[in-house]
Amino acid sequence: MIYLDNAATTPMSAVAISAMTQVMQETYGNPSSIHSHGRQAGKLLREARQDLASLLGTKPQHLFFTAGGTESNNTAIIGHCLRHQNLGKHIITTAIEHHSVLEPIEYLVENFGFEVTILQPINQEISAQQVQEALRDDTILVSTMYANNETGTLLPISEIGELLKQHQAAYHVDAVQAVGKVPIFPETLGIDFLSASAHKFHGPKGIGFLYSATMDFDSYLHGGDQEQKKRAGTENLPAIVGMVAALKEALEKQEQHFKEVEELKDVFLHEMTGADYYLNQGKIQLPYVLNIGFPGQKNDLLLLRLDLAGISISTGSACTAGIVQISHVLEAFYGPESHRLHESVRISISPQNTIQEMKQLAETLKEIIGG
Ligand code: PLP
Repeated sequence: MIYLDNAATTPMSAVAISAMTQVMQETYGNPSSIHSHGRQAGKLLREARQDLASLLGTKPQHLFFTAGGTESNNTAIIGHCLRHQNLGKHIITTAIEHHSVLEPIEYLVENFGFEVTILQPINQEISAQQVQEALRDDTILVSTMYANNETGTLLPISEIGELLKQHQAAYHVDAVQAVGKVPIFPETLGIDFLSASAHKFHGPKGIGFLYSATMDFDSYLHGGDQEQKKRAGTENLPAIVGMVAALKEALEKQEQHFKEVEELKDVFLHEMTGADYYLNQGKIQLPYVLNIGFPGQKNDLLLLRLDLAGISISTGSACTAGIVQISHVLEAFYGPESHRLHESVRISISPQNTIQEMKQLAETLKEIIGG
C-alpha cells in the first residue's frame, strides 16, 4: 500500500502520537479548573501556546486554537469583516482559494451586502500587482493562500503583505499547505491573520490555529472565557500538544525534508521519462505537490486503477459522495474547456515516502496509460 495523498492529510508523526498519548493518560484536567488537575492542564496549555509562538516568531496572545483550517479561515474572514464593516464592504481574494475561504466570502456577499473581487490567475500566477489594481478605499480584507493545495503553486505573500502595509485592508493568509514546509513568521510578512491545520504537517486531525495580529474580530462561539473569549469551549489539550510537537519536529527538519521530498519528486519524474504526460503548475512551486495530466486518460478511472494497485492519490479537487468534482483551480489556470480538467491527478508527497514507492508509482502509471 502506498500513500501519496499527503495534501489531503498526513499520517501522524511518532512524536505527535507520543506527546498526545501522554497528555491523554496523565493530564486530563480541564485547563479552566482551579484545582491541581486543572492547574496542571492549564500550565501545559500555556506552554504549548508559548512554544507555538516561539516557532512562529510571535507572542502567545496572538495565537488561538481552532478545530483546523476551515474554522481558522471562517473565523478570520467572517469575524474580521463583520467587526470592521463600518470601514467598507469590499473583499479581494483569488479564484484558486480553498472552499473554506471562498464560501465564507460568498456567505458575506449573500447575507451582509459585501462585494468581492476574485482575482483570476494570469499564466498560472497571481501577482501582487493584481491585488494592487483591485484595491479600493472600501477594501477591508485581502485573503490569499500561501501555497495551493491542488498544484503546490506559491503565491507572492511577502509582496502582498508589503503592499497592504499602506492600506486599511487586513491581510489573511490561508497557510494550511505551507506551515511546516517553508519558514513562516507572520509578523515579518505583514500578515494580519494566518490559518493553519495540524493534520497537514503530521499532527492530529481536528485541531489548528489562527494567528491574529490584533485579536480584533467578532467571535462566533460564545459561552466561555477560553482563548481570550475568542473561542468558547474547553480546549482540546491532547490535540494542541500533539500539534505543537508535530510542528516543532517539522520545522527542525524542514530543510532536510524539503530536499528529501524534492528528490522523491525528481525520482518520479525521471522514471516517467518518455511517458506521455504534462504538469499543471505555476512559476514557483512547492515540491510536495505534483499535479500531473495524461492526454486522453480519464482521471477518475486512473484513480480507481491506482487504488486497485494499492496506491492512494487524488485529483485534489473536492469529492462529493465519492464523485470527483471538476477542479476550480485547474479551471482558473486553464479555462473551463481545457482537457486538463478531466485528465489530471494530484500526487502529494511527504518525507515519509520512499524512493521505491515513487518508482512503483511511476511503473504502475506507465502500465495504466500504456495499456
Ligand atoms: N485550506 C487549504 C489550502 C486546505 O488544503 C485545506 C484542507 O484541505 C483547508 C484549508 C481546510 O483545512 P481543515 O481540513 O483542517 O479544515
